[in-house]
Amino acid sequence: MEKTNQLYEGKAKKVFATEDPSLVIVSYKDDATAFDGAKKGEIRGKGAVNNRMSNFLMRKLEAAGIPTHFAEELNDRETVVKKVEIVPLEVIIRNVSAGHFASRYGVEEGIVFDEPVFEFSYKNDDLHDPLLNTSHALALKLATREEIDTIRNMALKVNEVLKAFFAGCGVRLIDFKLEFGRLPDGSIVLADEISPDTCRFWDAQTNEKLDKDRFRRDLGGVEEAYQEMMRRVFGE
Ligand code: ADP
Ligand code: UDP
Repeated sequence: MEKTNQLYEGKAKKVFATEDPSLVIVSYKDDATAFDGAKKGEIRGKGAVNNRMSNFLMRKLEAAGIPTHFAEELNDRETVVKKVEIVPLEVIIRNVSAGHFASRYGVEEGIVFDEPVFEFSYKNDDLHDPLLNTSHALALKLATREEIDTIRNMALKVNEVLKAFFAGCGVRLIDFKLEFGRLPDGSIVLADEISPDTCRFWDAQTNEKLDKDRFRRDLGGVEEAYQEMMRRVFGE
């Protein structure tokens, strides 16, 4: 499978067309951004970590019955995925308070929830991804009620599979963001990526942060945290 023309360059990945109109190639960059693009930098080796980890997790989710966009890993940084129409919702699942949940509602980080929190925001950089509820999403025609139900059920199932998997790696899955897309037949699949850029991972023993918060919060050891997550997941 060969790249033809570049369709899109985002903050973390580039998307290329292929000879097959139903497939695109995503290419993961080392570029890192935070706070709506206000903070910029590079995390050496991040593209390869995110590509390989995301593909590994998508395969695991497929095996658990969750349809994904994954098609074929080409190399360290590039993967063929089914081209989808992205549903413009950033779907977030939270098991433990952190980040915007803690700041928005004025609580400390680290509160373990009795059941997972499901939320979504409008994927729209110009509007700074505002938080939405289901009736907002329906009014804006971002998705149908059936699609929102499907997305919610799939996201909760992803959480169960990933929480159990990461527990076996000595990692607490605190929260994460998912994106979903529509295939040409209208069915919903999990798309985009699952990586230390899009999840909060805390060491199960020490609660040390092993994710992009090390970059966001200038904690140091950013590259090392991404490599440590690779070792936890692949045993490398
Ligand atoms: P951003 O657009 O937020 O800067 P990225 O740099 O990760 O994000 O760019 C990747 C883009 O590709 C995102 O807009 C994402 O929604 C989109 N995307 C992810 N998976 C697919 C897919 N299977 N088909 C089409 N687009 C996808
Ligand atoms: N997240 C993401 N992309 C975004 C916003 C959030 O991947 O544009 C992830 C983030 O890494 C975290 C979870 O979603 O794992 C919840 O993020 P939160 O709402 O707390 O916002 P943040 O503090 O990350 O801006």
